[in-house]
Amino acid sequence: MTTNTLFETLNPPVRLLMGPGPINAYPRVHQAISSALIGQYDPVMTGYMNQVQSLYRGVLETNNKQTMLVDGTARAGIEAVLVSILQPGDKVLIPVIGRFGHLLCEIAQRVGAVVKTIDIEWGEVCPPELVEKAIKEFQPKLLATVQGDTSTTMNQPLAEIGEICQRHGVLFYCDATASIAGNELKMDEWHLDAVSVGLQKCLGGPSGSAPISLSDQCAEVINRRKHVEAGIKAEHHTAGADIRIQSNYFDLAMVMDYWGPERLNHHTEATSMLYAARECARIYLEEGSENVIARHKQAGDAMAMGLKAMGLKLFGNQQYKMNNVVGVYIPDEVDGDKVREELLLCFGIEIGTSFGPLHGKIWRIGTMGFNARQECVLTTLAALESVLLKYKAHIQPGQAVTTAMQYYTV
Ligand SMILES: *Cc1c(COP(=O)(O)O)cnc(C)c1O
Repeated sequence: MTTNTLFETLNPPVRLLMGPGPINAYPRVHQAISSALIGQYDPVMTGYMNQVQSLYRGVLETNNKQTMLVDGTARAGIEAVLVSILQPGDKVLIPVIGRFGHLLCEIAQRVGAVVKTIDIEWGEVCPPELVEKAIKEFQPKLLATVQGDTSTTMNQPLAEIGEICQRHGVLFYCDATASIAGNELKMDEWHLDAVSVGLQKCLGGPSGSAPISLSDQCAEVINRRKHVEAGIKAEHHTAGADIRIQSNYFDLAMVMDYWGPERLNHHTEATSMLYAARECARIYLEEGSENVIARHKQAGDAMAMGLKAMGLKLFGNQQYKMNNVVGVYIPDEVDGDKVREELLLCFGIEIGTSFGPLHGKIWRIGTMGFNARQECVLTTLAALESVLLKYKAHIQPGQAVTTAMQYYTV
């Protein structure tokens, strides 16, 4: 006999999420998610879809008509872009500055693309000269990279790379999930052809929706692969000249038709996540991009300088550090996981561990979205200092919080 249990009523603890994402969502985003559900072709719903397109043009600083949501986490946006652009045998150049650069390679390889990487030491960014040299030698169709790679906390400068891609006729895609809304991103000015992001970093929402935008040229490349699926295909749908996109769910040619005037049925838009994405963008644009980015820089600087004042060592080339996350070396005397556990259980604060070559060496502490605020920075520094003192780490007590507070005195 099987026994069924209902478990307890859902009641997750309230945590302060100060890792590299996910973070605590803005209260207004929680409200938006709990709004009433409506049908996918209700004119109110299609109206919201149009609003979301317009709002994300604002967030990504673009006029691209093809701006929409991919339903899924940020990785869904990345995969949709790569599988829709890259045909088997296409050449893609990928500067790899951290873990998420490897993810781009992995997805491109699964698609059957020919991948060439520029491997950068973790904690540094890719110089544009290396990109230009590699483009001349390799002649790729696409350059794919990551802007803020949270695995290393570095923010790849993109403007010059965009100009190089433009000059050589190479499509330019960037995963800006971790950097958007905390660091500058100018899609059109920097000649980006495709950008994908997620909500759970500086946009201040939950994971589960991936806003993307495609230049006209990029949309055309994708539409050449359009083969409308059986069952909804009509007379006027002529097949594209290029081979069909390997994924159905991530077929951006079909997703564009669902978001476009034809409203051709594809998936059912994830209504609650669209509400969340809409509110994240409204909050960002209402506060103003410059103000939001400045707030992230203030919180990020206060956190980094507080950690330094405690006597801890920061990871990576600080000139290129993302505003919204800092890597800090774990003192030799302490067990990094034990400290994280104690922060969580005694203070309700989560900070991040790290991956690959940095595993066990650094913690990553984020100040993003709703949590890019003085009280979150100060509380985290005070709590970390207490736990480190308990474990007899060789730190400077009494400095971190006052140092961080200086970033907030006017
Ligand atoms: C956090 C992060 C993601 C997140 O992807 P999910 O699929 O939402 O987990 C993607 N890209 C980068 C660069 C990130 O830092």
